[in-house]
Amino acid sequence: MRAFDYHLAESPADAVATLTAHPDAAFLAGGTNLVDHMKLGVATPDLLVDVSRLALDEVTTTEDGGVRVGATVRNSDLAAHPLIRSRYPVLSRAMLSAASGQLRNSATTAGNLLQRTRCVYFQDVTTPCNKREPGSGCSAIGGYVRYHAILGASPHCIAVHPSDMAVAMSALDAVVVIEGADGERRIPIDEFYRLPGDEPHRDTVLRHGDLITAVELPAPPSGAVSDYRKVRDRASYAFALASVAAELTFDTDQIGSARIALGGIAHKPWRARRAEEVLAGATAGEETFAAAADAELSAADPQPGNEFKVALTRRTLIAALRTLNERGRR
Ligand code: SF4
Repeated sequence: MRAFDYHLAESPADAVATLTAHPDAAFLAGGTNLVDHMKLGVATPDLLVDVSRLALDEVTTTEDGGVRVGATVRNSDLAAHPLIRSRYPVLSRAMLSAASGQLRNSATTAGNLLQRTRCVYFQDVTTPCNKREPGSGCSAIGGYVRYHAILGASPHCIAVHPSDMAVAMSALDAVVVIEGADGERRIPIDEFYRLPGDEPHRDTVLRHGDLITAVELPAPPSGAVSDYRKVRDRASYAFALASVAAELTFDTDQIGSARIALGGIAHKPWRARRAEEVLAGATAGEETFAAAADAELSAADPQPGNEFKVALTRRTLIAALRTLNERGRR
């Protein structure tokens, strides 16, 4: 591991100023992803700015009926928080489906958002990877693609985002609050993440020195039911082959509103706007659910070797909608 300096940030402003002044520095919080990458040689910061002790570890209500989650709230604490369990069960379920208990005890909200792809080539510094080393090529194209994208990929990168939490937050229309050199910015999570395009090394729109201070969740619609469904190769401690975060409201037989995000299939949490359009105002039932899934997946462009993910995602989305339909009518 490359030698590095360490600085314990005294305030968000101190953290931002210190990082901004050091082009090769990185923020450290739970360290569950960054430290692994430092050991592998994937990340080589010369300075770690520790933000884990900043007073950003509270979950509070907002004036408009939503919830504000501090950036350093631990994943375990967020999943178990009464406000999250009661108002945003999709988020609690997504977080409990992720990683292991030990990792959730250490990982933070902001760190979870910023975790990097688990593409095996990204983590192997002996192989070309445009995300790790821009311009070097993509080893996954034509290689091992079981965990790779079927939507939104580019000829430069077909990796997927690994977070379950971010998928649920995408369905909930979360807003990421950022402290930067020019002050505070608030970015809807769907605009926070990027598709790979020709710059796959940029996962998000963050600039060097930007510090995530919180994530805000708007108030859920009245009467909404939500769920997170994840399909993976083993029952725990595995990343999603496909996942669905969905929240629906019902008006007797009709679907009122629908908010859906898909995980494990794209470079970012994939907001399923086409499916939402089919569902909103339609009669709830198998035909509608299948039409919604087909509308969303009509743009799927799998790699040779991961075509199965199209059918898997379709089945997972329909199953999630079926479950919510049953629960919404009780
Ligand atoms: Fe790198 Fe992306 Fe290709 Fe994986 S899919 S090897 S992360 S460029």
